[in-house]
Formats: sequence, C-alpha cells, structure tokens
Amino acid sequence: MIDLHLHTTASDGTLSPEALVARADEARLTVISVTDHDTTAATHAAGAAARTRGLTLVSGIEITAVEAHRDVHVLGYYIDPDNRQLAEFLDTQRADRVRRIRDMADRLAALGVPVEVESLLGRAAAPGRSIGRPALADALVAGGHARDRDDAFERFLGHGRPAFVPRRGAPAADVIAIIHTAGGIASLAHPGLVRVDALIPALAAAGLDALEARHTDHAADVELHYRGLARRLGLAVSGGSDFHGGAPEGTARLGAVTLPAEDFAGLQQRAGARA
Ligand code: AMP
Ligand code: ZN
Ligand code: FE
Ligand code: FE
Repeated sequence: MIDLHLHTTASDGTLSPEALVARADEARLTVISVTDHDTTAATHAAGAAARTRGLTLVSGIEITAVEAHRDVHVLGYYIDPDNRQLAEFLDTQRADRVRRIRDMADRLAALGVPVEVESLLGRAAAPGRSIGRPALADALVAGGHARDRDDAFERFLGHGRPAFVPRRGAPAADVIAIIHTAGGIASLAHPGLVRVDALIPALAAAGLDALEARHTDHAADVELHYRGLARRLGLAVSGGSDFHGGAPEGTARLGAVTLPAEDFAGLQQRAGARA
C-alpha cells in the first residue's frame, strides 16, 4: 500500500520521522513519502528508518506557493533533499514563515489573546524545521482560547479571520521549476481544497507533472473530477492521506487513503522521463 503525503515534527506533524515510519509499517504501508511543509529536514532520518523496516521512501516535500493571494501547495517527489538551490529557496520560505508567525502573534496580542511566540519559535529553530499556523493554533488551545486547531483557524488564523497575515511567497511556476532543478517531479496538492481549476492548464504548461486527485479530503466525485482533468492534460495522478499524526489536526487514519499501484507506476514513469 502506497501513501505519498505524510507530515512529521520537521513541520506541523506530531510524530518524529522514526515514529511515523513505525506507524506506517504497522498500517502495512510499503511505499511512503514524507512531505513536510517547506523542509526536507526529516528525509534522511525517515529514509534510514524505512530501510531498516523494508519500506520504500520516496523523497518528498510540500512547498507553499502563492497565486492571487491564495496559498497553493505543490508536492515534490524524487527530489534531491540536499540540492543547494532548493535548500536556499526553502531557507527563504522558512524565514517568511517566521516573519508571518511573529506578525500574527502581534495581531493575537492586540486581540487580547497573547501567545508565547518566542518559545514557539525557539522550538522551531532546530536546523531546517519549519513553523506554521498550527503552532499558533496549538498555543491558542493550550491557553484556553480555542477548543482545537480547527476552532483556532475558524476564529483567528484562517484566511480573512482577525489574526490572519498573508504570506509572501513564490508563484507556483517558480516552485515547479525549483522542484525540477532538484531532480524531482511536481504535483498539485489537494486541488479539491484549493479550487484553482482555472489555473491548472497554465501550471501544466509550466511543467506540472501530476495532480493529487486522491486525498483524504476528496470525496469520490472530486477524485474522479481531478482524474479526468489529469487525463485531459496529460498529467499523472498522485495521492496520500496528508496524515499529521492523528488528533487534533487531520482525522486521517493511516492506511485508509492510499494510492493505487498503477498511479504510482505513472509517477515513476514521469520521474524517469524527467531524469
Ligand atoms: P501554514 O503552513 O502556516 O499556512 O498553515 C497551514 C497548515 O495548517 C496546513 O497545511 C494544515 O496542515 C493546517 N490547517 C490549515 N487549515 C486548517 C484548519 N482549518 N484546521 C486545522 N488545520 C488547518
Ligand atoms: Zn500541515
Ligand atoms: Fe497541504
Ligand atoms: Fe500536507
């Protein structure tokens, strides 16, 4: 069983790379990819743990691009996690994450719900770790200002909510190009959640390789819609659970949403053609 969308403590997941691989093994997954937000910091540890257990790890990442003030997540597979240009690009991405978290913490303080932002940033300061709004959400929950991550996004952190601060980031075409530079292929993450269908033909022309048609938050009709779009545009299909380690974020049960082997073969073919 194949799951190409998993998060660890290198970004906003709750499991270490080793613990995640152990859980994946228990869930009978055989091929996995760790796709942390804007960092490859977990890749080597996850790869070593996977080798020990006889799982295959496809090196991966989930990079946040910005299109018309909206976040567009782009997955990269088969990347060289140590590629220098990619590393420099990700350093910039993570620096803006820190800037944004500080700005959002200032807003929260002004709203009367202060969080200890420097301790959050301190925890995220380990080399290559990336911080995101879920860290603020967890602090709001711990401070009794929100019930859970969803509630914190709904009340404070989501797009258009009072503590929201926009990100500064690269357009999706630049993100696709940097993934190719690092030797990888690019897939548009959870298009059913982002709803940028009008943009997808241009992204395909810019070199997008696949659509993540299969995802925990895609109903069957949504998956079929993106499978059809991928076929029409000559793109492959990727998929995974987007598992963040169970509650509170992401109710995905590991092993519940997997990618069919024939789709994985299509991705491998695409990666081979790029290489
Ligand atoms: P950021 O990377 O700072 O933009 O935070 C976005 C991340 O927060 C997403 O990748 C999800 O993991 C998580 N997220 C986004 N929206 C929600 C929500 N409504 N409830 C819980 N987590 C969310
Ligand atoms: Zn996440
Ligand atoms: Fe995402
Ligand atoms: Fe994700």
